[in-house]
Amino acid sequence: MLAGIDLGGTQVRVGLARSDGQLVASVKTRTALLGTPQGLVEWAAAEIDRHRGRQKVRSITIAAPGPIDIKRGVLVNPPNLPWENVPLAALLSRATGAKVQLANDADMAGLGEFHHGAGRGTRNMVYITWSTGVGGGLIMDGKLHRGGHGTAGEVGHMIVDPDGPLDNCGQRGCLEAMASGTAIARDTGRPAAELFAEAARGDRQARIVVERAARYMGIALISLTNVLDPEIFVIGGGISRSWKLVYPTMLETLRSSPFIKPARRPQLRRARLGDRAGQVGAVEWARINQ
Ligand SMILES: [Zn+2]
Repeated sequence: MLAGIDLGGTQVRVGLARSDGQLVASVKTRTALLGTPQGLVEWAAAEIDRHRGRQKVRSITIAAPGPIDIKRGVLVNPPNLPWENVPLAALLSRATGAKVQLANDADMAGLGEFHHGAGRGTRNMVYITWSTGVGGGLIMDGKLHRGGHGTAGEVGHMIVDPDGPLDNCGQRGCLEAMASGTAIARDTGRPAAELFAEAARGDRQARIVVERAARYMGIALISLTNVLDPEIFVIGGGISRSWKLVYPTMLETLRSSPFIKPARRPQLRRARLGDRAGQVGAVEWARINQ
């Protein structure tokens, strides 16, 4: 059997599947309840043991927030968890006897959408998670593209305005510094969710803020299209729930490029798997690498 774990700042999900990828059990809990990495490992190992029956679990993937060291399976210092340099893959491997891999959560969400969500049937897809931060996952020629050091797909750190505000990463004018929920909150002094709700009710000022963020996202889509030539963009994350507010501006911006002819213009779709994308992708990665 296989297992996929999605470790988020708020929730942890474990999915157990047959070796062909067919899901047989899925459980979740709150990350805060587990407390420590050891708590997470014990809980995950117990859940896997409880649902595996008499089958052996061979391969497990943990989708985790970056930065992570993929080769060594180490969680470095995720911004939304108070854990540092945790050899999570080794700990879970010891507890379960399975081969365990650590993978980037946005990569896994992208892989989930590619195989079982909005990207099904395509070969070249860019997944973007758009919420408090901006992340991405690249599927090129049917495969997850991780780059030379496992860090490809950092869509949020594409520079869209070199004179823009300083991003947490040290660069100026990153997409994340211009269009994320955090950027919106920084510019308006109010939570992004509140602003999106007001924009949905038709508030003019709120609409201007939302459209500005969507235009920066559209600018990033133009560059990604020119570099990667994807067939489709799949947009997930909290802001994609306000699809009707952001989609028209993103599409209009993408269409405004005279260089991207309609014949090669990618489709723009909202993600389908919601909060399950990371877990679904992690199971898929465990299947591919079993
Ligand atoms: Zn950045």
